[in-house]
Amino acid sequence: MERPFDSATREALVARVRFYRELGLTEFYRRPVDEALLAELEAHSATSLEAQPESTMNLGGPGLAFETGDTTSPQSSQEDQPIPPRKPLYAPPSIPPTIPAADRAAALQLIREGRNKLVFGDGSPTARLMFVGEGPGADEDAQGIPFVGKAGQLLNNMITAMGLKREEVYIANVVKCRPPGNRTPEPEEGNTCSPFLFRQIDVVRPQVLVALGATAATYLLGQRQPLAGLRGRVHAFRGMQLIVTYHPAYLLRDPRQKKEAWADLQIAMRELGLKAPAKG
Ligand code: URA
Repeated sequence: MERPFDSATREALVARVRFYRELGLTEFYRRPVDEALLAELEAHSATSLEAQPESTMNLGGPGLAFETGDTTSPQSSQEDQPIPPRKPLYAPPSIPPTIPAADRAAALQLIREGRNKLVFGDGSPTARLMFVGEGPGADEDAQGIPFVGKAGQLLNNMITAMGLKREEVYIANVVKCRPPGNRTPEPEEGNTCSPFLFRQIDVVRPQVLVALGATAATYLLGQRQPLAGLRGRVHAFRGMQLIVTYHPAYLLRDPRQKKEAWADLQIAMRELGLKAPAKG
């Protein structure tokens, strides 16, 4: 049965639709409402959703240094420094009670599966270089910021090796919510979130995009191909340059590939006119 909206819900819905329109999303549909889920949601107090556990990042351990294999580039000195928790650029609310019922039910389902925060993006909105990963992990889900766990630490070291600061680049993921158990995002999840990623890219309009790993490459290029065939060259992408390289999490598992990743990053640097900082 259709439920009429109260005025607060209606206002919130109008604001949300306006927000989506500004992002360039204009097609909307109503999901069927699961009444049992809704009842559960109503019983779920907003305060329990706000009480987020502090991130328990363990950033120590081997493998975080980004060895470029290039004597002109620095070995990062930050490898054991945890990334301090901070406020995300866009701090989304948990689930305000004014969110339409169907969306709240869907959000509750994700929360049940362990999702805490929406992880949208981080960095400079005028960046010339943008990195795209797969989706948030546990640390990102706790902080609401992409790439703040171990893979993020390695990505930071890669950015430093390029002579840049993390604040100078923009970082986002294909999916904005943590896939339960860190699994690869399902096609439905990737297809739901990727329009937001595309709008982020269009708003930032970096000169160079770096796809980190196969999932990012697949959604950006619109085709699934082995990474080996995509790396090592510049792809044309919506008037920008796209470079594909290994995901930092993969590099942590197989550090021998860091040299190959550095070669990919050097292509990005060449396109951006960047020189690796002198060692010192
Ligand atoms: N892996 C990703 O792909 N994205 C993150 O934000 C963190 C880990």
